[in-house]
Amino acid sequence: MEQRKLRPWQAEDSTELYGIERWGNDYFGLSAEGNVTAKTLNTEVALLDIIKGMVDRDLQMPVLLRVENILDAQIMRLNEAFAAAIAQVSYTQRYRGVYPIKVNQQAQVVEEIAAFGERYGHGFEVGSKPEMIIALSALTQPGSLIICNGYKDEEFIDLGLQAIKLGFDCFFVIETPSELPMIIERSRAMDVRPNIGIRIKMVSQVSGHWNSTSGDRSIFGLTASQLVAVVDSLRQAQMLDCLKLMHCHLGSQIPSLSDIQAGVVEACRYYIDLVREGAALSHIDFGGGLAVDYTGAKSSDDQSRNYSLEDYCQTLVNTVKTTLDAEQIAHPIIVTESGRALVAYSSVLLFNVLDTTKFESTEQLPAEPLEHQLLTQLRSVVEGLNEQTAEQCYEDIHRYREQIRDGFNQGQIDLRCRAHAENIFLDTLHSIAALLDTMVEVPALMADLKLSLADIYYGNFSLFQSLPDIWAIDQLFPVMPIHRLAEEPTRQAVLADITCDCDGKIDQFIGLSKAAKTLPLHPLKASEEYYLGVFLVGAYQETLGDLHNLFGDTNVVSVRLNRDGSFDFVKEIHGDTIADVLSYVEYQPRQVELNYRNTAERAVREGRITAAERQQMIKAFKASMQGYTYYEREH
Ligand SMILES: *Cc1c(COP(=O)(O)O)cnc(C)c1O
Repeated sequence: MEQRKLRPWQAEDSTELYGIERWGNDYFGLSAEGNVTAKTLNTEVALLDIIKGMVDRDLQMPVLLRVENILDAQIMRLNEAFAAAIAQVSYTQRYRGVYPIKVNQQAQVVEEIAAFGERYGHGFEVGSKPEMIIALSALTQPGSLIICNGYKDEEFIDLGLQAIKLGFDCFFVIETPSELPMIIERSRAMDVRPNIGIRIKMVSQVSGHWNSTSGDRSIFGLTASQLVAVVDSLRQAQMLDCLKLMHCHLGSQIPSLSDIQAGVVEACRYYIDLVREGAALSHIDFGGGLAVDYTGAKSSDDQSRNYSLEDYCQTLVNTVKTTLDAEQIAHPIIVTESGRALVAYSSVLLFNVLDTTKFESTEQLPAEPLEHQLLTQLRSVVEGLNEQTAEQCYEDIHRYREQIRDGFNQGQIDLRCRAHAENIFLDTLHSIAALLDTMVEVPALMADLKLSLADIYYGNFSLFQSLPDIWAIDQLFPVMPIHRLAEEPTRQAVLADITCDCDGKIDQFIGLSKAAKTLPLHPLKASEEYYLGVFLVGAYQETLGDLHNLFGDTNVVSVRLNRDGSFDFVKEIHGDTIADVLSYVEYQPRQVELNYRNTAERAVREGRITAAERQQMIKAFKASMQGYTYYEREH
């Protein structure tokens, strides 16, 4: 810290401040000019250059940016890390990944996973009929893996049996015993041998946000006695050879490697006994849970993980190998259903800042000869301010302010005097706050002082549409400016979105050591947009979003980075228009327009406007209906 003061701020100071190397997973970096870059293939592209391309194409902020190469790279890293772990200990079977479509169902994402994943045989996990239909349309190679979880009706089962006829490796995972008779009945009727999986209820306790998917009260999976009943039914139906897969899912975002290992050991014990029961098991599926280090802390905190991808793969492979080898059971194909870790990195929410509120005095006003005595007293507090008196001064200014407000309410103090008092109060508060850094211990009374003085930056986005998990489960995502980073960020701020909801704010950030309540930002410049990015938002955010205040889907842009440092816009989707969001809540845009025409016609009749003005107004109204739901700047 001390050293930094001796030289001007540099981009590398921002790298440290915002932790980009800790959470960026080598996909994001900072150029010497102070721009955040997306990185893959030994190439780097500044996000600001991509935004310039968007502006040229009239794609307004906010925009969800997808970098396809990052998605590809994650698929590659996952498959290659498993291949390496398998080679290292001479595991005799392979790894097969499936992507759980629920994590991000957007066609752009699913189609890219199908296309790039093909070289690794990466398949899909589906939990409903619509997801099944997506998988059947996206996969093209015979032998592609489809894992069907969730409750399955006859139609769902028939789709899966058809998939087998078409050559896909489609598995029905039995989640409740009642599903089995229908699977047996439909496969006989359609004359197909089904591939059956069985989901076990894990009792290993897992820490983290989503730990309720394991444990005795888990709503998923079969108990030991239900497993035995399913095995007996299959044997009776002479279909025990169809029971090929054992499935478990400990939860999502599991931060601790030892929890994962304990779960794998428990699953292996089930696997061994099911094989001994005569099941022809060939696949063990560990579900999801591979975490994303959102905070970059590399810890076992909920929003972090205390292991690397390599550690995860080695733990799964080695634990299965040692546990099964000890019982002389053949190695199964290892399947995982990583969703979050596969897609989180590839999406960034970009938005501009529209305005700020500062908690500062408006103007330094000199003392007037005849000013109110309370004002003079308030003004003099700062004279005795030092580290020892800080707490006393803090109390004093609050007391004087209170008295001044009372005086105002009683008509003894005028508006101008009250305005002076507010300015003096804020100036003194800032002087006190400036002392806190050098104080050995901050008095409890002043613990939130800095937070109460933080700026509010208003961002052009809707938290409820684009970052629902921040609202719903206090998820932390890395947030930072994407440019001007060679310049010291001198403001401390919290972020507010443009909905009218007081929950539409971000006031928890990834700090240097622990969560911080404010984010360092740069002052706005009059002539230049200020852009922020929210990173690692590719998983779970897009489809959980809602239409709060009728802010709709954002614009989406997919780019592909090239080796020569250039980039291509490969896909663009214009977000919802106002007419779109109105129709989602059952308005008919045509009727809405007609109502407005009639209102305007009445105004013509009553002589308020001319017919020509009416035409202008209707034209503007129609343009609004076709416009973006977010704040649009006229370029
Ligand atoms: C949600 C879910 C996943 C995905 O989990 P991640 O932690 O996102 O990888 C995988 N399998 C099942 C059964 C799920 O319900």
